[in-house]
Amino acid sequence: MLTHTKVLGGNPTYKVLYREIKFPRLEFKSGNLEVILPKGHRIEPEEVVERHKNWIRRRQLFIRDALKGSSSKSLHIERTVEDFKDLVRRIIERHTHRLRVSPRGIYFRPMRTKWASCSNKNNITFNTKLRLLPLSTIDYVVYHELIHLVNRKHDTRFWNTMRKRYRNTDTWEKRLLSYWFLIHRNRNRKGHLIAIH
Ligand SMILES: [Zn+2]
Repeated sequence: MLTHTKVLGGNPTYKVLYREIKFPRLEFKSGNLEVILPKGHRIEPEEVVERHKNWIRRRQLFIRDALKGSSSKSLHIERTVEDFKDLVRRIIERHTHRLRVSPRGIYFRPMRTKWASCSNKNNITFNTKLRLLPLSTIDYVVYHELIHLVNRKHDTRFWNTMRKRYRNTDTWEKRLLSYWFLIHRNRNRKGHLIAIH
């Protein structure tokens, strides 16, 4: 079931979803706030939003900065999908040597909501839209997924390992979001980003 509600004096607009989870969860998908509630529980979405309003505000500012940053960036349209696949395989080879982990399979496809993902069976899938990003940013995403082979969750240990190679992960995450906005700009113009204004 989907419902849209306006809260915080006209601040975020959010979508309410119900899933088989134990605790309520907040997520920003491409700049839109989603309140995910456990099925069958009587928790009011307003309550969850109110409880986490500081986090929501911080996220909104992060998204606003990323949007601003997207105007000064350009896409690497000259890199073909084949070039991109070769590049990712080379990066993986280099890192697996050092990290002593390797994915079982490497897959590529266009993805709608993420840059990449790592399955429980240690298969890594990369969004082919990554081909439009600079080499350094592709490396950041590849490294992130390889770390998931040993650390599934985005917990402190995960980010500490990330910071061994990328000291300011916040800046890198913001950069990634800027590119996301740049690639999906046309769709966002059609009201996709109402949550952050
Ligand atoms: Zn991750």
